[in-house]
Amino acid sequence: MTKVQLKGVRKEFGKFVAISEIDLDINSGELVALLGPSGCGKTTTLRMIAGLEVPSFGQILFDDQDVSEVPVQDRNVGMVFQRYALFPHMTVEKNVMFGLKVRGTPTEEIKHRLEEILDVVQLQQFRHRFPAQLSGGQMQRVAIARTLITNPSVLMMDEPLANLDTKLRGEMRRFIRDLQQRLNITTIFVTHDQVEAMELADRVAVIFNGKLAQYDAPDALYQRPNSIEIADFMGADNIYEAQISAGRAKTAFGELQLDQLSNPVRDGVGHVLLRAEAVDLLLEADAASENVIPGKVTGREFFGATVNYTVECNGETVTVNEQSRRMVDVGQDVWLSIQPHRIWVIQDTA
Ligand code: ATP
Repeated sequence: MTKVQLKGVRKEFGKFVAISEIDLDINSGELVALLGPSGCGKTTTLRMIAGLEVPSFGQILFDDQDVSEVPVQDRNVGMVFQRYALFPHMTVEKNVMFGLKVRGTPTEEIKHRLEEILDVVQLQQFRHRFPAQLSGGQMQRVAIARTLITNPSVLMMDEPLANLDTKLRGEMRRFIRDLQQRLNITTIFVTHDQVEAMELADRVAVIFNGKLAQYDAPDALYQRPNSIEIADFMGADNIYEAQISAGRAKTAFGELQLDQLSNPVRDGVGHVLLRAEAVDLLLEADAASENVIPGKVTGREFFGATVNYTVECNGETVTVNEQSRRMVDVGQDVWLSIQPHRIWVIQDTA
């Protein structure tokens, strides 16, 4: 288990600045996802941690030792890529053993490790097959096994599930999460898929334009993004400009009482973020409660377990998501009910 730290890391390619400055602490045994749109610098960051690129400035530390200039072969990292890069003429077990053979590991030890690792990735029954005889998910498990057998102190994965179909991606995510927790190996996972990052990671590092935009646990990133850009990237449904005054937010669709304990705000402008599932739909007015706003259902999207409603309130549109146990008709008059602690306000830092 290894703790990884990036301190003031910058990467320039000629005049182009790929990473302007990143500070990142990854605890030993933690799974961190590097998340961001295409070209934001995820792979460059991973390659610097691996030792495939040298930072232009700053330091990379493994367990407090500066490894910024240490080449990849001396860092004891394991890498898994989107393309499995298996040897087509070698069987599963030969592919998996390859790394230890080239290191000159004694045969007895290789055999022992092979059995261990084939069990871990559940590939025993496929050990004599060639890559062409395997499914995409099985090939990716071979690629993971081949990396794990060398006992890396840090495991790095660059979009490893990008070639798999949706169902298999879900299975492989659970497989990777389970494996990582069992082995307790520090893991850095690059993805541009928010759902994948949230499902897999202990913490998610969002990178925009070569900068670390937010580094947080998945639920914090989802519920409490620190900017509108992040809220938008994380798929926020309802974002409104607001005037904040005395703990209340005035928006175009209505005025809302805020919860100053969970989200301290200051007077001035800001944006109100309402997750669609944080808004309750009432069929009758409720004068006794706070934040009850009249509206009309103007659209309905059925997803099976849940339904999305579009509700017009004072000329603004609010998206509401609820269980499909009941169905509300389009055209129905409704009231939105929003509990203060479920509202998140984003304000520029003073
Ligand atoms: P993607 O999700 O598309 O793989 P990414 O977030 O991983 O993107 P990087 O591959 O890290 O992005 O690239 C970040 C930026 O640095 C891009 O604009 C890319 O063109 C540039 N870049 C990466 N490697 C080099 C290089 N060797 N020389 C010049 N520019 C580079």
